[in-house]
Amino acid sequence: MVPDGSGMSLGARGISPNGAAPRCEHLDALVPVPPQSSICRECQAAGADWVGLVVCLTCGWVACSDDSPRRHALAHYEETDHPVTRALRPGSARRWCYVHRRAV
Ligand SMILES: [Zn+2]
Ligand SMILES: [Zn+2]
Ligand SMILES: [Zn+2]
Repeated sequence: MVPDGSGMSLGARGISPNGAAPRCEHLDALVPVPPQSSICRECQAAGADWVGLVVCLTCGWVACSDDSPRRHALAHYEETDHPVTRALRPGSARRWCYVHRRAV
């Protein structure tokens, strides 16, 4: 048993602006994790460039976004089934659920 009741207050402010869309239940399973890096390690290892970076909200893995040539964030989802990413850029709170295929 986990002593802190995390999850009870999560999502209290999560009313989505597009109220018609079904809620993304994948957000409920997330606990805060810090990003593991500030680069796409796979692109760096390959000497490749990326357009943007996202962080996996399940494990903190950082990878290049879907508008980057190699789409390592998508590869991470396909390998791990970790559903939700967030843009790494400071000030951006945009999250993307790969299962629902939309911003959440
Ligand atoms: Zn979802
Ligand atoms: Zn990459
Ligand atoms: Zn992950």
